[in-house]
Amino acid sequence: MERKKRSWAEPYKIKMVEPLVMTTREQRLRAIEEAGYNTFLLRSADVYIDLLTDSGTSAMSDRQWAGMMMGDEAYSGSENFYHLEEAVREHYGYTYVIPTHQGRGAEHLISKILIKPGDVVPGNMYFTTTRLHQELAGASFEDIIVDEAHDPTSTFAFKGNVDLTKLQSLIERVGADRIPYVTIGATVNMAGGQPISMANLRAVRELTAAHKIRVVLDATRAVENAWFIKAREEGYAERSVASILLEICSLSDAATMSGKKDLLVNIGGFLAMRDEWIYNEARTLVVVYEGMHTYGGLAGRDMEAMAIGIHEAVQDDHIRARVGQVEYLGDQLIQAGIPIVLPIGGHAIYLDAKRFLPHLTQDQFPAQMLAAQLYIEGGIRAMERGIVSAGRDPNTGAQRYPKLELVRLTIPRRVYTQAHLDVTAEVVMDLFDRRDSIPGLEMTYEPRYLRFFQARFSPLQ
Ligand SMILES: *Cc1c(COP(=O)(O)O)cnc(C)c1O
Repeated sequence: MERKKRSWAEPYKIKMVEPLVMTTREQRLRAIEEAGYNTFLLRSADVYIDLLTDSGTSAMSDRQWAGMMMGDEAYSGSENFYHLEEAVREHYGYTYVIPTHQGRGAEHLISKILIKPGDVVPGNMYFTTTRLHQELAGASFEDIIVDEAHDPTSTFAFKGNVDLTKLQSLIERVGADRIPYVTIGATVNMAGGQPISMANLRAVRELTAAHKIRVVLDATRAVENAWFIKAREEGYAERSVASILLEICSLSDAATMSGKKDLLVNIGGFLAMRDEWIYNEARTLVVVYEGMHTYGGLAGRDMEAMAIGIHEAVQDDHIRARVGQVEYLGDQLIQAGIPIVLPIGGHAIYLDAKRFLPHLTQDQFPAQMLAAQLYIEGGIRAMERGIVSAGRDPNTGAQRYPKLELVRLTIPRRVYTQAHLDVTAEVVMDLFDRRDSIPGLEMTYEPRYLRFFQARFSPLQ
């Protein structure tokens, strides 16, 4: 008899292992109290399965490690820079590349170059560091994502899409000369790793071009976005992810990149662009903030690992397995009736804390507490993406109340096995069974910038 379905498996095998330590519940309670109920402040040695982030946590391939040994550590003109430049040109299609120490280094440069005080930068939902750099450069951020993105129960296939009516009316309201560029995230991290469709991206390009407004792509997760276009958008099923990625990038003027995500490295990023004027400005500024334009704060070996990572990241087999792992975990939680953001995104499962802990108000930091409880229950480290991450309005100091109050279980690339994901699902289910007994939190320390990294909390009651 022929089987209907053939399971896929990861297109790699394991050559080196890093032992994990399982802690006791008492140890974890002590650790989370010392960390002020902030999973960012835990020591990684106290964590069993680390799903805090997929940023810089990927397992590099043997090729990448071999590349690390080929670092050309010259102060300028390193061979590795030229390999990186070639790889970016081949797979992202931009003419000019400036390495940066990570994604926010590129965001800093492009914000400083293009924004003047009083400007408005629209984007398909905000990202923490992206928006902060725009605000520090004097702009205010305007969310132009489709409404579906703010509804965790909507199963719309392209929740990363721009609402063109919102963009059009913003242009009419503030005037195109106050909009230096539109930021397009692909996929949209804060919406749950949700993709933008090619059709929508093309429409954004047409509308902005008519007003001479630039498009800056946050390409950090664009390979994952390309995979979703292949899987969900008509006309792309037979196309390679690599060719879809090139098409995405062709609809933008510049890109900021955190290599710590798609590109399978532990550190690195770049700013890329077609425009020679932006390139010359960026070359001038990068020396001030990152380093020479041929290393941008990176060692030669890091640029080599990133160049090799670019080639590995765009392989269809790789990206199918990467997104497939996320879906494997998400499907188990859906079957158990756990409230998660739908559809399942590219890099993470997002627990909907508002529905998981409906007895808590948003001021009691339900997602922050849920993340702490996941750690206490099973040594699993996740992160809050809700009211703490949203922070305060920089002008009024008022607390922002985002619609989404989420806990992100982020899957590092090529790091964990299906059994780790099974354990994770079991821990979430156990916690769901005793959800009524989980109290809220109060904030006892609030940092000025990006408070979610270092804020401290204590349980109510
Ligand atoms: C991580 C990330 C960034 C910032 O990059 P860093 O390397 O952490 O500085 C920007 N945008 C998106 C979508 C990200 O996921």
